[in-house]
Amino acid sequence: MPTSTNKPLGILALAGVGPYQEKAGEEYMGEPQLAHFKKILDAWRIQLREEVDRTVTHMQDEAANFPDPVDRAAQEEEFSLELRTRDRERKLIKKIEKTLQLIEDDDFGFCNSCGIEIGIRRLEARPTADLCIECKTLSEIKERQMAG
Ligand SMILES: [Zn+2]
Repeated sequence: MPTSTNKPLGILALAGVGPYQEKAGEEYMGEPQLAHFKKILDAWRIQLREEVDRTVTHMQDEAANFPDPVDRAAQEEEFSLELRTRDRERKLIKKIEKTLQLIEDDDFGFCNSCGIEIGIRRLEARPTADLCIECKTLSEIKERQMAG
């Protein structure tokens, strides 16, 4: 089972695209760039959905196969681990869908907090990023301070 779907580096390969090559003077998040990221996000979402579906089927197939309580306990543990992973993936799918909507609305690629361009390279590493690197760093520092 592929485990690389949460790792951004695999996303470009997954979508079958290379890093975006900007032309001189090209508009940030014009049509070609939006199409590039739409392709990446679509491929990522499809992959995650397939994984979620596969696990559900897998669990339904196996759930009835362990009459022994010890086996069953071990399996329940395995299932709960898988369910947590699937839960993360479902949340990620929601985030991807939200990001796709931003592309539809022509509002993709800008920092949610300060409004500046997030940047192509950062978005290729993390297509669902909604903060620029400065705001992201700042919010992480704040989170750490609040956590004590
Ligand atoms: Zn910002």
